[in-house]
Amino acid sequence: MNIPKSSFPRIIIIGGGFAGIALAKKLSKQEVQVVLLDKHNYHTFQPLLYQVSTGGLEPDSIAYPIRKVLKDFPNFFFRLANVKEINTEKNKVITNIGELKFDYLVVASGSKTNFFGNASIKANSMEMKTVPQSLNLRSLILENFEEALLTTDLHERNALMNFVIVGAGPTGVELAGALAEIKKGILPKDYPDLDTRLAQINLVQSGDKILKEMSDKASKKAEDFLEKLGVQIWKNVRVTGYDGKIVTTNSDLTFETATMVWAAGVKGAAIKGLDSGQFVSRGNRILVNQFNQVKGVDNIFAIGDVAQMETEDLPCGHPMMAQPAIQQGKLLGDNLLRLLDKKPMKPFVYKDKGTMATVGRNKAVVDLPNFKFQGVFAWFVWMFVHLFFLIGFRNKMVVFVNWVYNYIRFDREARLIIRPYKKKLKS
Ligand SMILES: Cc1cc2nc3c(=O)[nH]c(=O)nc-3n(C[C@H](O)[C@H](O)[C@H](O)COP(=O)(O)OP(=O)(O)OC[C@H]3O[C@@H](n4cnc5c(N)ncnc54)[C@H](O)[C@@H]3O)c2cc1C
Repeated sequence: MNIPKSSFPRIIIIGGGFAGIALAKKLSKQEVQVVLLDKHNYHTFQPLLYQVSTGGLEPDSIAYPIRKVLKDFPNFFFRLANVKEINTEKNKVITNIGELKFDYLVVASGSKTNFFGNASIKANSMEMKTVPQSLNLRSLILENFEEALLTTDLHERNALMNFVIVGAGPTGVELAGALAEIKKGILPKDYPDLDTRLAQINLVQSGDKILKEMSDKASKKAEDFLEKLGVQIWKNVRVTGYDGKIVTTNSDLTFETATMVWAAGVKGAAIKGLDSGQFVSRGNRILVNQFNQVKGVDNIFAIGDVAQMETEDLPCGHPMMAQPAIQQGKLLGDNLLRLLDKKPMKPFVYKDKGTMATVGRNKAVVDLPNFKFQGVFAWFVWMFVHLFFLIGFRNKMVVFVNWVYNYIRFDREARLIIRPYKKKLKS
């Protein structure tokens, strides 16, 4: 890997997401050698992926080069590498570009889509966890309308214009709202010769509440917003399969659709060597103690989505969201330095700063610890918070200008099929 030997202890971080970057920043200018490994050379701001999928933003504005984050840090090395295995006994990581020994290892590899073992859903549905996946979805949505315009088969046309989103958490809700706005504001202009009123957006939720992690008030209001936008919400319906044409459910209800988006679950992206037995929970997250130390191993830590710290208040660990990841990354930075100074580490205490979701123009719901509000003000708060946490001044400016432009013009100019996507159906 061409990493020079150093008199400083070597800390390897796997993953340049929210947790890995927060940790790296804390370790800058310290007497340690830091090697950050990621299979992408950019950090992805996942909360805005749905805007890439729906043509609201260009992918470049929500991704940021990891090398640029680290450029002024001495003793920092970045390698574009996919980590295949962790050898806990020999203290080394094995990657597609070679092996590297560590003194301390921090796993911050995030999460991946959970299909709960359903092969047909995994094979035929669309995911939205990465920039390439979001671009695939953007292409597919636009290609569907181009095809709908050409076909004379009414059945096929309806299926092409029928969208099914499974999972009504923030991702599903935000995507459904954005698609409904496209149907209302963009499709009639772009496809005047197509009856775009026939386009349907279905949001399917297995439980009886959308945004189930939020307050009842936020959930109810989001439901009202979505219904006003024309989204059909199906609660207490569990999707059981999708062959690329028909979505089946646990009831008689079926959907004929060319596009099913799976936003119904994530699991930890634990890496071989730490992905079985005593190391992981049922959700494939690495079990850690209150210092984010992997249970049973002193020099390996896990932070962010991939870590499960079970406490009395949170028996299933912290929510898989940006805030716990950032807070754990920052504290572990301090704790590693304390460990090197032979001082006791500080336990992690999560400061819940609230949750929010947007449904569309002027419509958002915000639950702060002591204050819950919905509507236009919530939407401005949602935009401010997302701009604040986006990495890079250019990205903040580009996203801000795009939002202002889209707001004034009722537009989404990134509706481009740059990289055509062809779905290969599998049974
Ligand atoms: C569509 C979507 C919308 C979301 N919306 C919100 C929201 O509104 N608010 C909120 O708080 N949270 C939201 N989240 C969740 C939030 O993005 C995650 O909780 C957060 O990204 C977790 O940070 P992390 O650092 O643990 O992992 P990530 O940010 O996922 O970073 C993990 C990194 O590890 C790298 N990696 C993984 N495996 C390997 C490997 N084997 N080798 C090398 N590199 C590897 C990945 O490339 C990635 O860069 C959303 C997530 C998604 C997908």
